[in-house]
Amino acid sequence: MTIDSTFRGPDLGTSLDMLAAALDGEVILPAHGAYHAARRVLDAQYDCHPAAIVRPANARDVISAVNFTRELGLELAVRSGGHSPAGFSTCDGGLILDLSSLKAIDLDLEAGTVRVEPGATWGEVAAALHPHGLAITSGDFGSVGVGGLTTGGGIGWMVRKYGLTIDRLLAADVVLADGSLVRTDADHDPDLFWAIRGGGGNFGVVVSFLFRPHPAGMVTGGMIVYDGADLPRVVRGFADYGVTAPDELTAMVDIMHAPPLPFLPPERHGSLIVGVAVCYAGDPEAAAQAIAPLRSLATPLAEAVGPMPYPALFAFTDHALPPAPHIDIRSCFLGDIDDALIATLVERTAALSSPLSMVQLRALGGELSRTPADSTAFSHRAAPYLVEAISIWTDPAESAMHHANADGFWDDLASHAEGTYVGFLGNEGEERKRSAYAPGTYRRLAAIKAVYDPHNLFRRNHNIAPLPAV
Ligand SMILES: Cc1cc2nc3c(=O)[nH]c(=O)nc-3n(C[C@H](O)[C@H](O)[C@H](O)COP(=O)(O)OP(=O)(O)OC[C@H]3O[C@@H](n4cnc5c(N)ncnc54)[C@H](O)[C@@H]3O)c2cc1C
Repeated sequence: MTIDSTFRGPDLGTSLDMLAAALDGEVILPAHGAYHAARRVLDAQYDCHPAAIVRPANARDVISAVNFTRELGLELAVRSGGHSPAGFSTCDGGLILDLSSLKAIDLDLEAGTVRVEPGATWGEVAAALHPHGLAITSGDFGSVGVGGLTTGGGIGWMVRKYGLTIDRLLAADVVLADGSLVRTDADHDPDLFWAIRGGGGNFGVVVSFLFRPHPAGMVTGGMIVYDGADLPRVVRGFADYGVTAPDELTAMVDIMHAPPLPFLPPERHGSLIVGVAVCYAGDPEAAAQAIAPLRSLATPLAEAVGPMPYPALFAFTDHALPPAPHIDIRSCFLGDIDDALIATLVERTAALSSPLSMVQLRALGGELSRTPADSTAFSHRAAPYLVEAISIWTDPAESAMHHANADGFWDDLASHAEGTYVGFLGNEGEERKRSAYAPGTYRRLAAIKAVYDPHNLFRRNHNIAPLPAV
């Protein structure tokens, strides 16, 4: 589908009126009462003022918004769930294409597929699929959007059993920079299909994803909590077991100040703890045996692990973010967890700059690592671990202190880094961005970008510049 149009009026205001008249959805302008709520994204640091926010009602509206920004030379920020750690889903002076208005989740039980629009959140997808005993491996946060997580890769509670979110993707409908709408899959525009699975928002606006869900009724999930003083033993034992456990078991370590969770003794609230979060996606009888080694890493302070519907797992992360958080994430894949890294974790987590800040260490492998490395643009399938140092605070006056703390943490982590995950990347410069991809993957992405977006309309992202023609 393409739409012939021109939105060039005598001034921006008139052009925006022309856009509004062409849409089934809405255009929210600065004078509109809804503007200030609509311009906000998750991270309160990105307090931007766009010229307008478009909430499309359908793919046709997305085409019009893309044509509008191309014709007027305006910056385009594409937003699904609004969780970009780099603030890319908002902008100053440009246009936000807010896809949170596109939330359909259409399950076709006969075909064994589900079509999901980008503005649905992963919590909404889990809730919609659960009554059918199904799920799609995604992230560990219910509020993250389908659009951003899927185009980056998708690492979550079931990554060892079912792989990345992109490994369940069968096809996508994408609005390209020239305003055309294409269906891409393994047989149609296969380069585009390869690129949108890990290459982020560089290639177009995905207006619909077709996934093959997998079984996931009840899981055995929750958290085993240890005293912060046991960090070295717990991390050592977790690192050894987490990557050799049965695929059904995905586990991660959360080093943090204890939130007021009901299963933690009140006198422990606020003290440094090491939580081992688990999800066993399989037979509950086998779960106990698989999780047992993680229950004896030291003497647990508390435990809340048991059978639960998969969507209930999101409750274990809901507590992590206050309203209007400021966030600074530094992350990298690790090839190994050695004593030097554990010493860094001990030193740095003893001085976390905020009671809300935390370090998360994920054990990978399993299905993620068995999928051929060149099958998608996600590069780091062989990495056994992913670590994220996450600073979270609420008072803008403290920002410099928290950023400095994050910088210091990163200085210590950098020598262990074996590439990074684009989903957790902030505005960290060219070298860090490139480290999300193997060199050959990056070159191929740049060549595909030159075909699908030669003028770099989709540049408000971890941008891959089009390879210059030779
Ligand atoms: C609190 C928190 C928890 C997280 N947990 C996890 C996790 O467990 N696992 C994991 O893998 N990641 C996780 N992430 C990272 C997350 O996957 C990425 O930040 C992702 O980009 C967020 O998606 P979104 O749609 O919410 O964000 P948005 O800010 O809306 O989008 C981010 C970017 O993605 C691109 N994009 C969004 N929608 C589309 C679309 N429809 N078409 C094309 N491009 C698009 C755009 O470039 C946009 O700037 C987490 C992030 C946060 C902040």
